[in-house]
Amino acid sequence: MNRQLPVAEPRAVRRAALGLLRLDGRAFAAVLTLNALAAAAALAGPWLLGRIIDTVRRHGGTAAVDRLALGVLVFALAQLLLARSARYLAHRFGERTAARIREGFLDRAFALPTAVVERAGTGDLTARGTADVEAVATTLRDVGPELFIAGLQVLLILVVVLAVNPLLGGCGLLGLLAVWGVTRWYLNRAREAYLAEGAANSVLAEVLAATAAGARTVEALGLQQRRLAACHEAVEACRRTRTRTLFLRSVLFPVVDVAYAVPVAAVLLLGGILNAHGVVSVGTVVASALYLRQLADPVLAVLFQVEQVQSSSASFARIEGLARPAAQAAPGGAAPADDRIEVAGASYAYDGGPDVLHGVDLTVRPGERLAVVGPSGAGKSTLGRLLAGIEAPHTGTVTVGGVPVAELGPEQLRRQVVLVTQEQHIFLGTVRENLLLAAPTAGEAQLRAALAVVGADWVAELPAGLETELGPTGYRPDGAQAQQLALARVVLADPHTLILDEATALLDPATARHAERALAAVLDGRTVIAIAHRLHTAHDADRVAVLADGRLAELGTHDQLVADGGAYAALWDSWHGTHGTHGTHGTHETAAGAAS
Ligand code: ADP
Repeated sequence: MNRQLPVAEPRAVRRAALGLLRLDGRAFAAVLTLNALAAAAALAGPWLLGRIIDTVRRHGGTAAVDRLALGVLVFALAQLLLARSARYLAHRFGERTAARIREGFLDRAFALPTAVVERAGTGDLTARGTADVEAVATTLRDVGPELFIAGLQVLLILVVVLAVNPLLGGCGLLGLLAVWGVTRWYLNRAREAYLAEGAANSVLAEVLAATAAGARTVEALGLQQRRLAACHEAVEACRRTRTRTLFLRSVLFPVVDVAYAVPVAAVLLLGGILNAHGVVSVGTVVASALYLRQLADPVLAVLFQVEQVQSSSASFARIEGLARPAAQAAPGGAAPADDRIEVAGASYAYDGGPDVLHGVDLTVRPGERLAVVGPSGAGKSTLGRLLAGIEAPHTGTVTVGGVPVAELGPEQLRRQVVLVTQEQHIFLGTVRENLLLAAPTAGEAQLRAALAVVGADWVAELPAGLETELGPTGYRPDGAQAQQLALARVVLADPHTLILDEATALLDPATARHAERALAAVLDGRTVIAIAHRLHTAHDADRVAVLADGRLAELGTHDQLVADGGAYAALWDSWHGTHGTHGTHGTHETAAGAAS
């Protein structure tokens, strides 16, 4: 039932990446320029060394050698300074851009429709907001610039080494092909092998933890042998995957080490022969060898970091995927004309599944108490979600005052309809901040009045009153208090209609007594649609809507429906027979094990 959040297309990712670079274009250009200059400065060293050797052999005099040596020093210093400043700027650029990505991600996450987040689960969203953003930030800060420097160095060195001596250069480059080849071979296999190793580690940890945690059960049921076998299997999988990655490394590293030396050795050999025939100078041979030696590092860096860039562009695609959620909110749309809620021909299906609501027609009268009953799976909670604007029907309409409920922005929606469930959330922050979420402009008196309505006297007794910090490090409200704060928010939002899902609302016996009273005060004067999982709610309601298999089967007052002798009457009879004479309340569900 979990559906992953969307992932952006490669084109969108490229466009977004370019957009980010453009936002900080000058810093990025400065990073590139400094890096290019640093790479160029690095090229001077070998050439100057070659010149020194030739000068010495020609007995060109110490003054000339000194000048050349000074040149080596100056260029080395210049390279150091340029590379350092480039790095510094790149870090600042990377952190600024990462901050932009994080902020943008938060904005998008907040804009997601509730239903989308619910369906995707918070795990996916959290992973994107943390690990993925971090991966992209690292790439921007470290890998990107390094890759750029390495690529540029490779290019420049290639040009220079061929310019110094095409024959020597070409011969050296052939040797480097081995590095290229073996590294590609390694990279093509490494990703999968390391993923498998990681997965095997997770499985092993899971198996061990589960065995330890369930030790008594394992003992009681005599499952020792089976658990042992599972552990053996997990350990064996670990061994296998680790051997595989070890093998990959044991091929890569020796080959790379040798491959480093081969081009240099080849150039020295060939250079020696050519020099003996007077074709090239010793200086040229040394310069060529040094350049080739310099080339190996950036080549490897490019090969490894391309991998990193690929994986972080996957992360970026996951972050960018949030940009285009199934946007529903139409802020500034039409305002509802009145408080009337109408369901007309509404059908709904979850994620391309079969319809779970079929053409439901229902007019809720302002101010009435309407109970929705029916067997488990009949679609009661789904209807509640449509009425609360969490989902929109795929055909038909659910409107308040003529406007589709699902199209109302959050500000407008909460003044019309609020869904009340047991899942109240306390937000980090003060009591006041928790309350202001529902009514940002509410004054002191309004906040106190709302707390009084729900009977939350305890707030006034807290040392810091409304300014008390809530949460793990501050005051921790118990279940009943949390429920009261949630209800106080409802009072502040002041919607004309409440949807009450009893499957999840107020069933905790410890909090029930307190909360029932607070709830009664909140319901007062509002239209209430109760998704009733307990029949006494239906008995007390003005009208009862009976859902069966996603269809509205019956609609009328309790007395009418009992007199009609239909599905509701049958339900009522069975409940009344078992419970009515004892006068018990509130535990009999309209059907066992409500799935909502
Ligand atoms: P009720 O509240 O009457 O028990 P629901 O509205 O929860 O019924 O469920 C109606 C139907 O929709 C059931 O068949 C249920 O399996 C299905 N359903 C409910 N929630 C989901 C969901 N998130 N994804 C897919 N199917 C769902």
